[in-house]
Amino acid sequence: MAHEEPEPMFGEDDLEWSEEGDSLTAGVNEQGLEDQAATAWLAAEEAYVPLDGGTGYLAVGGAGAGSIVSELPAGAPEISKTTAPAMVDRDEALKGDRPIFLVHRGARHANLLPIVMGDLHHKKGQHLAIGAVANLPSVKLQKIGAFFDQASVAALRIADPQCYRLDDKVLRLPPDPIGKRAFEYAPYLSPTDDPEWLHQVIDAQRSAGANLLLTPGRALNPDDAQNSLDATFREADQALALTDRGERIALNLTIPARWLAVGALRNRLLDEILDQDQFDVLYVRIQWAQTKAFAPTEDVDLLMGIRRLSNLCQDEGRALLLPQTGLTGWFALAHGAMGYGLGVSGTDQCFAEHVFRRGRQGQQQAQRYFERQMLHTIDSSSHDVVAQVPGYSECGCSYCPSLFDAQPWPHALSALHHIFSMGALTAHVQEDSGRGGRHGAVRRIVATARRWSSGLPLGPGDLPRHLSVWDQAL
Ligand SMILES: [Zn+2]
Repeated sequence: MAHEEPEPMFGEDDLEWSEEGDSLTAGVNEQGLEDQAATAWLAAEEAYVPLDGGTGYLAVGGAGAGSIVSELPAGAPEISKTTAPAMVDRDEALKGDRPIFLVHRGARHANLLPIVMGDLHHKKGQHLAIGAVANLPSVKLQKIGAFFDQASVAALRIADPQCYRLDDKVLRLPPDPIGKRAFEYAPYLSPTDDPEWLHQVIDAQRSAGANLLLTPGRALNPDDAQNSLDATFREADQALALTDRGERIALNLTIPARWLAVGALRNRLLDEILDQDQFDVLYVRIQWAQTKAFAPTEDVDLLMGIRRLSNLCQDEGRALLLPQTGLTGWFALAHGAMGYGLGVSGTDQCFAEHVFRRGRQGQQQAQRYFERQMLHTIDSSSHDVVAQVPGYSECGCSYCPSLFDAQPWPHALSALHHIFSMGALTAHVQEDSGRGGRHGAVRRIVATARRWSSGLPLGPGDLPRHLSVWDQAL
């Protein structure tokens, strides 16, 4: 399998936030070995299931898995004993009858993502809508197009312009947050007064095939709150004016956590959002300090802010999407967020503040496994301990049997398991919303996870400390 070209910025080799290290440089043959497990999936036989209502076929095997075709290719086998739900379109998805699960395309295993997205649509599509997110500065336009094409189960296609990379005075970004390659892929990433700039940002998204456009999303500066809000909303209004008939654009905000954690700033932000009712979709990226890779935030003030923002959007009939939030975003479904995003790498679970950490030579990439019963990602050695505890239920996803058969640890399959499990958990929030809505469903899932996790024979580093914090914010 061809390797993805490296994405040096905000990419997986960006290990500054990860105390355990998450470096691609660790383990020389690792990528090759991972690819073996991944190649097995890609080599699976071509197969199709019909979509409900006779609206096409979903490829569930072979190199095109995850894509939807209108007609069965000549000679292709059809598995007719099951069907997949009919596709929902963008506008249907944004009504919010089902939670929206955004899958971020990163450098690692990008070509496997459509497979798990198709798998999720097949098995859980009644209860969730899927979105695909690719970052314009990370990869060539054609690759984004190919990703969107294959991930055709995605009702939303977002080509994130990541203009916040220009805001290293407001955000904590790695040194040189744009770099040569990002600038080549996203030439609009230079500070300019050119009135054409906004056109370039919007046109780049159109060229990539996005069906939900974003305003530039420059970072809001908490130290110059009103001016910053004014500038951002002025730019957003101008972007809105550039959209054509049939296009939709989301208000894209990038905010340091302080905007949500501190009362006065929070009120100011929420008041402003309340006023700007020309935007019915919000795409809000929050930067916070991360203590441990793959663990959600334990900051109660921030969680309360996310809760207030979600409540407001729900009350006002706005679709709130929280990209790059992982489990924290899932939690926000309880309070009215319509969707959230995650991806393969640690950076896709959290837009973490950059902290310089020296990488250790020869360090192995952490072997992580997401435990759905704990709502927590732990080390594979801890998984072995937990799996022996009475009451443990094995994951039923398609990837786990091969994952636990393979040696060494197949990071690709572990990532697919993580994305599938989080998708299933998202669908479950909808499935179980009959009593007490999505809030009731999240509360029950969290309560069950807390009960299960208390008393597990694990070290403090592997315990899901966020669950007790969530309890306070539910
Ligand atoms: Zn699994």
